[in-house]
Amino acid sequence: MLDADIKQQLSQYLQLLEGDVLIKVSASSDDAVSNDMLAFLEELAGMSPRITTEKAQLARTPSFSVNRVGEDTGIVFAGIPLGHEFTSLVLALLQVSGRAPKVEQSVIDQIKSIKGNYAFESYVSLSCHNCPDVVQALNVMSVLNPGISHTMIDGAAFKDEVESKDILAVPSVFLNGEFFGSGRMSLEEIIAKISDAPDASEFEGKEPFDVLVIGGGPAGASSAIYAARKGIRTGIVAERFGGQVMDTVGIENFISVKYTEGAKLAASLEEHVKEYNVDVMKLQRAKRLEKKDFIEVELENGAVLKSKTVILSTGARWRNVGVPGEAEFKNKGVAYCPHCDGPLFAGKHVAVIGGGNSGIEAAIDLAGIVSHVTVLEFMPELKADSVLQDRLYSLPNVTVHKNVQTKEITGTDKVNGISFIDRATGEEKHVELQGVFVQIGLVPNTDWLGDTLERTRMGEIVVDRHGATSLPGVFAAGDCTNSPYKQIIISMGSGATAALGAFDYLIRN
Ligand SMILES: Cc1cc2nc3c(=O)[nH]c(=O)nc-3n(C[C@H](O)[C@H](O)[C@H](O)COP(=O)(O)OP(=O)(O)OC[C@H]3O[C@@H](n4cnc5c(N)ncnc54)[C@H](O)[C@@H]3O)c2cc1C
Repeated sequence: MLDADIKQQLSQYLQLLEGDVLIKVSASSDDAVSNDMLAFLEELAGMSPRITTEKAQLARTPSFSVNRVGEDTGIVFAGIPLGHEFTSLVLALLQVSGRAPKVEQSVIDQIKSIKGNYAFESYVSLSCHNCPDVVQALNVMSVLNPGISHTMIDGAAFKDEVESKDILAVPSVFLNGEFFGSGRMSLEEIIAKISDAPDASEFEGKEPFDVLVIGGGPAGASSAIYAARKGIRTGIVAERFGGQVMDTVGIENFISVKYTEGAKLAASLEEHVKEYNVDVMKLQRAKRLEKKDFIEVELENGAVLKSKTVILSTGARWRNVGVPGEAEFKNKGVAYCPHCDGPLFAGKHVAVIGGGNSGIEAAIDLAGIVSHVTVLEFMPELKADSVLQDRLYSLPNVTVHKNVQTKEITGTDKVNGISFIDRATGEEKHVELQGVFVQIGLVPNTDWLGDTLERTRMGEIVVDRHGATSLPGVFAAGDCTNSPYKQIIISMGSGATAALGAFDYLIRN
């Protein structure tokens, strides 16, 4: 089943196995996936004397668990972890064999200290780029803590289960049978969700900062590095380190790096920040900013941080279309990530709302998977580049409605259609379909600032050429500002500008 290149790479990884691994296999003789899985595992076991297999009866068939000899780890793969999940299998084999996961010691200690029984199940698609992070995080937790188990379930191999649970977004994670969350989640986010999140007392006694950065995307990381390199006391508060980069697959315009991937770049950003003396406060959300003697930033957990200057780099999030049904059917047919969730709509009819580049790219991508794509664009013309429009119009299974306003996403327990109004005639139309992908751009994460400083009508923070906002001592950078272009490299540049602007302000005040 494995091609020569993959076999070659795999055999190198398998040489790193530190102990014996026992794979328990639950297969039946009369289904194709079981037969493929058996062939795959036979090939795998044949590549290392440290791997043995034995027959077993597990909760799902076909599936297999990865164990130490004489000790079950709780790691199960239901289906064949190829595609993006192949790395998850390789890492599970290495970690179960005794190789330490590449995780900070403090995180390992936190996982080991979790008390209770946690049976996780994650539904994935093998083409989902967000899924491996979640699968690998849950596997690390299972390896380190005997009370934690994790089964990765390939939705394509367990279609009935996916349908009965109404799963229309991956990864979808269940804990002890209850829905736990969906979408990309970091190891730290999962741990914070099941253990007590740090409370305000952990932040008491922090000395005021010289520069406090709010937001850990490219702009925030760049600000923190530039500030720390000036030798001033720097802190960074980030709800999700990496920001939008974590939702990005391939990046080809990060100048000097021909190709990289979002998760890789996000990890490098964090690693680079940690090279410096920066107080990194992850999984924390700022909710209020006020200028007193110092600038005070209150976090959701009630802690108040003080700083002489603040750099706001809170970025942006997907814009909602804001019609009835959108919130109600989120992950029940309403989706925002075509790469991740497209395969769950295989053979179905979906709509894409938005005729810009991201909408038309999504429509082209989806047209190869689903039975039909209906594109809805508010303006009389599509805004996407003409090369994308040409490609779109060459596809046989796409219908484009221009100059229409989405009125409602309909459904019962999941999406069953979309209603829209023809803006020229006022006529209302309804199309029966099973999924809606919203692709209408981004909205800045600045609501929490209210009118403490000047923002545009769109909510973007107004900055000058030093990155300074209308509130003295407060600077801003990246996608949360009125910068006309929203790109990684631009955010990083503006982060550097804001940090140098803040340093200049500190010298003069
Ligand atoms: C799918 C996708 C693909 C993309 N592809 C590319 C590409 O190929 N090339 C390219 O150059 N650009 C690309 N972009 C755009 C690029 O990702 C953004 O321009 C860039 O990430 C903006 O960086 P930022 O630091 O300003 O904001 P973000 O990346 O949005 O980061 C914001 C940070 O602030 C945190 N935050 C938000 N609110 C709070 C709060 N209240 N308290 C604490 N923390 C908070 C977030 O958790 C996050 O850490 C893409 C974007 C998307 C969505």
